[in-house]
Amino acid sequence: MGDGVGGQAKSRSILIAGAGPVGLTAALELARRGFAPRIIDDGTGPTPAEESRALGVNARTLTLLSACGVGERIIATAQPIEHFRVRSGEKTLIELDTRQVNGRFSAVHALAQGRTERLLIEALSAHGIAPEWQTAVVAGEVADLRKPEVTLRHADGAMETVRPDILVGADGAHSVVRKALGAGFPGEALEAYFYLADFRYEDPVDTHVAEISLFDPGMIGRLPVAADVIRYISTLEGFESRIVHPAKVAEKTWASQFRIHFRHVEPMAKGNVFLAGDAAHIHSPAGARGMNLGIEDACWLGWLIAEGREQEYSALRIPAVKQVLKQTYGLTRLITMINPLAIEARNLLAPLLLRFGPARLALLRSVAGYDTPKPPWIDWAE
Ligand SMILES: Cc1cc2nc3c(=O)[nH]c(=O)nc-3n(C[C@H](O)[C@H](O)[C@H](O)COP(=O)(O)OP(=O)(O)OC[C@H]3O[C@@H](n4cnc5c(N)ncnc54)[C@H](O)[C@@H]3O)c2cc1C
Repeated sequence: MGDGVGGQAKSRSILIAGAGPVGLTAALELARRGFAPRIIDDGTGPTPAEESRALGVNARTLTLLSACGVGERIIATAQPIEHFRVRSGEKTLIELDTRQVNGRFSAVHALAQGRTERLLIEALSAHGIAPEWQTAVVAGEVADLRKPEVTLRHADGAMETVRPDILVGADGAHSVVRKALGAGFPGEALEAYFYLADFRYEDPVDTHVAEISLFDPGMIGRLPVAADVIRYISTLEGFESRIVHPAKVAEKTWASQFRIHFRHVEPMAKGNVFLAGDAAHIHSPAGARGMNLGIEDACWLGWLIAEGREQEYSALRIPAVKQVLKQTYGLTRLITMINPLAIEARNLLAPLLLRFGPARLALLRSVAGYDTPKPPWIDWAE
């Protein structure tokens, strides 16, 4: 199967709305195949590193981003997560060695989203392409889906009308492009809030372990952000008093709270307008899949455009999206249980089940992102 570098008219004009990790990946995948996409973003620059949402970069993403050289640069900068642990009180329910997954990479590394974005921007600049910041797609219906017409607003208030051959909506969960298509975003929101805090320590701490502590009810997840920074994420509002800090706290670098939604758009394209990343699907951060799934969308779309097969995009991506929504929904329910009987059953069954090789392997493969269809242009074993 080709890498899509031959064939299709490179002169087709492509506008990518949104320079988050997904839009940047789409631009890079197209640029390395000889296209010259234009990428715009409403914001003033990439995500600040200390306000980073996505942290987990899975093995599938590293595989996909190796083709443009960014995979190796992520590994050089990221914290490898070697162990994943779930504990309930003193009992360890699950302990996984993430290096035991097949393929070139361990299942998951941690790198703040802002840093991943900067590596993508740097790689894109080697193709002479830079995101146009403070340039927004303006809300409104897309007139002609075959040659979509959209209005852009620049920082100085100037308006510009463009008619690209292809429009990619990678403009996040509140996507203007999705709304302009008149597409719904069906799904549900969980009642509970999630709370998050990142702490910087005075000394380096152990960053090789990701851990979930279940308090039943309630949980605190612990994830490395950098050599001296740990993120805590919890369903408990007063969770900070329960944190057992591994060293002296230097500062709290970021705190946030959010509600979790499970939503996706179907189909993910209409005419020559394509939706990718959070613009097309959102779900819980359990499993660290959101950015990874969006990067996968972007890579598939880049390949399909180069192959002249972009009309297959939605049909090829929807099964992967549904798989990840189902998996993250199940995982979220497992860690947010409140029924004492269900909690007891989970705490008994999970360790039993995961004693068996196939169940451990299936869990590891999903952490690695290998549970969605393998990209046909990648010829490595996964
Ligand atoms: C607490 C938390 C933890 C998470 N952890 C993980 C994790 O560990 N791993 C993981 O894979 N995912 C994780 N995610 C999910 C991840 O952050 C998102 O899935 C990811 O940011 C989606 O990338 P995106 O490029 O699609 O959208 P975004 O990152 O939202 O980028 C969209 C871009 O579009 C721009 N934009 C918006 N409107 C317009 C417009 N009208 N015109 C032009 N530009 C516009 C915005 O300025 C923005 O730059 C987490 C999310 C949360 C909330």
